[in-house]
Amino acid sequence: GGSRVGGMNEGEILRLDEDHVWHPYTAVPSTVPVHAVRRAEGVRLTLADGRELVDGMSSWWAAIHGYNHPRLNAAVRDQLDDMAHVMFGGLTHEPAVRLAATLAGMTGLDRVFFADSGSVAVEVAVKMAFQYASATGRAGRSKLLTVRGGYHGDTFGAMSVCDPVNGMHHLFSGLLPQHVFAPIPPGEYGFRPGEATQAGPDPAYLGELETLVAAHAHELAAIIVEPVVQGAGGMRFYHPAYLRRLRELADVHGILLIADEIATGFGRTGEMFGCDHAGIRPDIMCVGKALTGGYMTLAATLTTAEVADGIGVLMHGPTYMGNPLATAVAGASLELLAERPWREETKRIEAGLLDGLAEAVHMPGVHDVRVLGAIGVIETVDPVDVAKIQDIVMGHGVWLRPFGRLIYTMPPYACRPEEIAMITEAMVSAAASL
Ligand code: PLP
Repeated sequence: GGSRVGGMNEGEILRLDEDHVWHPYTAVPSTVPVHAVRRAEGVRLTLADGRELVDGMSSWWAAIHGYNHPRLNAAVRDQLDDMAHVMFGGLTHEPAVRLAATLAGMTGLDRVFFADSGSVAVEVAVKMAFQYASATGRAGRSKLLTVRGGYHGDTFGAMSVCDPVNGMHHLFSGLLPQHVFAPIPPGEYGFRPGEATQAGPDPAYLGELETLVAAHAHELAAIIVEPVVQGAGGMRFYHPAYLRRLRELADVHGILLIADEIATGFGRTGEMFGCDHAGIRPDIMCVGKALTGGYMTLAATLTTAEVADGIGVLMHGPTYMGNPLATAVAGASLELLAERPWREETKRIEAGLLDGLAEAVHMPGVHDVRVLGAIGVIETVDPVDVAKIQDIVMGHGVWLRPFGRLIYTMPPYACRPEEIAMITEAMVSAAASL
């Protein structure tokens, strides 16, 4: 019947979940309700209780084309007939080399190192930076410059470059390598409802960056930054002038620039990559999330021939590196992206979000409303009650996962205007309840 998932009904799933499963960023059992999903199709999730929800999260930035896409399904099925997996040490295969060549063409970078999650791609980037410093006779450069408000993942190297105070990893701060932190960038990029113009970059902030990098250049192997959008650390949009300045400073001081495009990559911000807002190319780039259109876990760390040649042997090798199913579906997802009018789609979503979220601007519980590309954010005055907000938005037929002081959306590009309107109405209702 309609309420069944495979052989289990909703109650059975949720009981086993409560007894045995640990969900992300949650206690056991979860203090926030967990919902069983039966199907995902297009931009909608169907829950085991029969409810249909428009997905406002793209499964954390990933499912840009929507779910159960015939082309992506076919890519996995076709690849499955040849091989699900082979080790990547000393073996290679068509889906991986095709994908590497496509990524190189899209980014202007030369070498692609495949990993299995965004966090691992960041670990690899950090290792590349240290190995390159050491290989070029600057082994004393053992730190990274990172930016407060940033988020780069949950593994130790990645945690060490996340915001140490406001971020989610403060429990570990005593155990992490110490890096150099630039202040949170002033948020003056993107759009606010009713504001015609964007403020320019803050010259004082540009100056601060310059002073900080100059003071620490002797100990910096790399600068790591989320281009233009800081994601899970606060959903902040900052001016591309900062990114350009970081690129200049990296060049002047012989420091590598690592762009973490795991969230921002593949069109989400209205440009193919966040770096494109600034017209810069990083020395190392991390991609993940939307790389496979939300189908399989895959990420990659890309770099220049110069850095790769300088490093030589990179001591890293995940068991599932270059997984054929994942690289095949990533290839298909990038083909789909090249074919779809993602620029127009994200522009249309941007306009829909701006229009739909305008009502929330003057609500008492709302601190700020901002939009960039297919990303819409209501920042609240106080931390939200996640269960309560989810209950409200689910009542509007929408799936969102707020956290902290953020009620936000990054919908699939396939969302139509009426689906974007459902999402913004749900967000506005949630904001009205604060
Ligand atoms: N870097 C950024 C900018 C992210 O948004 C994320 C997302 O979680 C990560 C790194 C970590 O990726 P993953 O969750 O795949 O390990």
